[in-house]
Amino acid sequence: MRESRRTKHVHLRFSIRSGLEVVVPVGFDRDAIPALLEEKARWIERAEREVEAQRALLDSWPHDRLPEKIELLAVGETWGIDAMSTDARRMSLREHAGHRLAVSGPIGEAARWRSALKRWLADKAGAELEPWVEREASTHRLRHGPVTIRWQKTRWGSCSRRAAAAKPVLSLNAGLLFLPPHLVRYVILHELCHTTRMDHSPAFWRRLERIEPAAEALRRELRSAWRFVPSWLEAQLPARLPAQLPAQLPAQPMAAAVLTAPQRFDSAAGRT
Ligand SMILES: [Zn+2]
Repeated sequence: MRESRRTKHVHLRFSIRSGLEVVVPVGFDRDAIPALLEEKARWIERAEREVEAQRALLDSWPHDRLPEKIELLAVGETWGIDAMSTDARRMSLREHAGHRLAVSGPIGEAARWRSALKRWLADKAGAELEPWVEREASTHRLRHGPVTIRWQKTRWGSCSRRAAAAKPVLSLNAGLLFLPPHLVRYVILHELCHTTRMDHSPAFWRRLERIEPAAEALRRELRSAWRFVPSWLEAQLPARLPAQLPAQLPAQPMAAAVLTAPQRFDSAAGRT
């Protein structure tokens, strides 16, 4: 229960976070509350069921929740996220000591924090993967052109040549950051090896196996590597929405969401 100066009425409302909330005008006679709740018992019961349904849905909807941490297996780092909801229009991300990432702004808007985190991850991927490519390239004496980092849904990397004489461009998926290092290394070696052969011919695999004898096993292991990529990266709708849900999900699953239009009724005792 809380008192509010801004109201002259008693309000009942439910939120996912705090359950039933009773807002009363300042100076309201608290003894009158049980009787009021009794009067609204059926409404409360219905709202309670709705809240339960919404909670269950949110639990099965992890990708619209700002993650608490980001585990980057590729580089052995776990970043803890400190979220702060502000009414700024822009999302801001700041790195702090001890691998903490402060995320502030409209954190209830999944699309905003998702794209901010993806930008941060792409920058990080560039900073980590480009030198990694350089190291492998110089170890194995393979020449390549620029390295680009992109978010891709179907491939971990690619190698292409814009013109016959140009150095091949390596494109790497920013999502590689989530993979264990041995698989990242495999992708890098695979793409670097394409600088000598642009196909998947037996000659290509022989070349790749000369620098990585376990290439075949690694290639198979990579097939199931998408499971390392967290689901919050993509906005997806669940296959089916429960019938009792409102057309729109709460815009701010992190904050209290009013599920039912707050029911308002005059209370004799509350009138000033
Ligand atoms: Zn290939």
